[in-house]
Amino acid sequence: MKSTKIVCTLGPASQDADVLDGMIRAGMDVARLNFSHGSHEQHARTYRLVREAAKRCGREVGVLQDLPGPKIRVGFLPAGKLELTTGQEVVIQAGADRAEAGVIPTGFASLAEDVSRDDVLLLDDGLIRLRAKSVAGQQIECVVEAGGTLKDRKGINLPGVVLSIPAVTEQDLVDLDFGAELGVDFVCLSFVRNAAEVQVAKDRLRERRKDTPVIAKIEKPEAVEHLSAILDVADGIMVARGDLGVEMGPEKVPLIQKQAIEQANRNGKLVITATQMLESMVSSTFPTRAEASDVANAVLDQSDAVMLSAETAIGAHPALVVETMARIICEIEDSARYRQHAKLQPLPFEASSNAIARAAAAAGEALSDVKAIVCISTNGITPTLLSDYRPMRPIYALARRLEACHRLAAFWGVHPIHFEPHGSAEEAMVGAEALLVERGIVSKGDRILFTLAVPPGSIVDNNTLKIHRVGEETTKPNTN
Ligand code: ATP
Ligand code: MG
Ligand code: MG
Repeated sequence: MKSTKIVCTLGPASQDADVLDGMIRAGMDVARLNFSHGSHEQHARTYRLVREAAKRCGREVGVLQDLPGPKIRVGFLPAGKLELTTGQEVVIQAGADRAEAGVIPTGFASLAEDVSRDDVLLLDDGLIRLRAKSVAGQQIECVVEAGGTLKDRKGINLPGVVLSIPAVTEQDLVDLDFGAELGVDFVCLSFVRNAAEVQVAKDRLRERRKDTPVIAKIEKPEAVEHLSAILDVADGIMVARGDLGVEMGPEKVPLIQKQAIEQANRNGKLVITATQMLESMVSSTFPTRAEASDVANAVLDQSDAVMLSAETAIGAHPALVVETMARIICEIEDSARYRQHAKLQPLPFEASSNAIARAAAAAGEALSDVKAIVCISTNGITPTLLSDYRPMRPIYALARRLEACHRLAAFWGVHPIHFEPHGSAEEAMVGAEALLVERGIVSKGDRILFTLAVPPGSIVDNNTLKIHRVGEETTKPNTN
């Protein structure tokens, strides 16, 4: 059983019941719907397929909605492509989806206002590099510094240029409302620059009476600079290494990844490491050694989750990629070296749930025979905090809210189970124990730790830690 979670982007290769069953059984914990591609109808269908597959497999699976943000894209080229030779001059026409032959159109209307002389424009993830020579009206005249074949709808990045477009666009808000209605478990924001932008999405969700966690994608230099403030507002971050590498240069990615993961964990926030993790498996049946090492390092860095993109969206072997990733994760997590890395700082929150989480992690280490930590809660706050203590025992999060179960699927070491406690605190523990025994997770005589709220069902945080032996009556004097 692995602790580090796997997020899978779903696309044409994986929008299928059987494929999804295979992916969930292989270790997929969260499904990512990328709203940069596909239609609302397609995403709604995929959403239902995920929920059904999870039910069939008896597992809790989260659904993450990724909003496109202000990604500037090339429009439609007359021949579907345009050959660009190093040294030639080319014109970009802003505010147009189509243009005459030889001109690059972009629907992004204010590009000409944002770009000035000598700015660099990177096309198609940096494969093609242009430099602005002059701007006249809606036209930007450029010289090609690195040529190549430009295709329709490829991205345009402007490293270091401050764009006038908000990080949460009108389209993002439409998509956000759609996702909220659908019931997604996480919302991911692209090209975030500061905390205020994250707040825009959170406010919109609150207006819709949703408390969906918002994850900021760290892929702009401004986001790296404002990471602390972003972490104060966001519920998590994604180290989105694709655009980050384009915006800042690939050599900057490794250390930013390590620092961002560390900072997110210190703040008790979710952190996902993403992009190109097993890229060659889009077609190959096994990963390169460099890719295996990359996954291993993201695990050693203490990511909550690692992500697959094209590998599962358009790849030839979606389930096999997940299985491969799970195998690498297990190999690392079983090592002594991993245990050394997994010692994290206590979280600085003055809350009883945090005190209980910290105490449970400590008790799990003090008592060598503890089999599991079982958190009985409504919203799953305590297990997400406990996750950040990286306890040596598995965390079973028995949550009353189904949404909480779906969310908990993304957190390191947390195994969510939907559970409706009844009656007193003792009865809740008896019910939880019966469920765990029935599922074969624990058996008579095993020592487990319970965390719960007393009185149960109240809205208070978890405030109680109980050291318990399975099969022993909870009301009898404790013989532990
Ligand atoms: P982002 O910058 O948000 O990661 P991306 O274009 O790199 O955007 P990924 O989510 O990384 O997209 O997915 C990799 C590829 O898989 C995409 O370029 C696209 O070709 C394909 N893809 C992903 N989701 C879908 C979808 N819902 N429908 C069709 N194709 C998709
Ligand atoms: Mg991106
Ligand atoms: Mg991508």
